[in-house]
Amino acid sequence: MNKTVPLVKIVVAGDGNVGKTSLIRQYCEGRFEQSRVATIGVDFQTKTVEIKGHIIKLSIWDMAGQIHFQSVRTGLYRGSRTAALVHDITNPESLTHLQGWYEEIIAVVPNQRFLVVGNKIDLQPNYDTSEAKRFAASIKAPYLTTSASTGQGVQKMFLGMAYLALKK
Ligand code: GDP
Ligand code: MG
Repeated sequence: MNKTVPLVKIVVAGDGNVGKTSLIRQYCEGRFEQSRVATIGVDFQTKTVEIKGHIIKLSIWDMAGQIHFQSVRTGLYRGSRTAALVHDITNPESLTHLQGWYEEIIAVVPNQRFLVVGNKIDLQPNYDTSEAKRFAASIKAPYLTTSASTGQGVQKMFLGMAYLALKK
């Protein structure tokens, strides 16, 4: 018998330019591009993973950071299980803005699970990482760092999201 693979929706959110599209690309395609065209609206990719002995298909939604697309984003959060709140460790403002992203998502999906991600760790940080840890703790989310450029932490990020999505 043909068993259907459960589809699990996850979203990657955060300001424009923090590296959301690059993280998804690195995870799904194993490659990185230095210059990219900004995502317009929303985009998604799928990847099949094995987690805790289950095969699931992740549908990974890439949210555009541009504020004028907020009305579009709101509806797209529906049905998502885990959201990554991504900031750029060289841009402190992108961390400050994560509270707003959190509120936008939790308003649509009250039981959403979150992961806080500090991306671009191949570059020099421009803030105190304890602030990111404090924010993550305040929303009861794990915190981890990634580089979409070198691939460091990227598997861990997406497997962590899958794990949180399946957690009872
Ligand atoms: P998005 O707007 O959040 O989707 O960000 P993009 O994925 O389009 O990336 C924005 C810019 O940051 C691009 O020029 C990427 O090449 C660059 N970038 C993304 N991730 C990293 C990273 O981990 N390290 C470095 N050095 N640059 C990155
Ligand atoms: Mg993008």
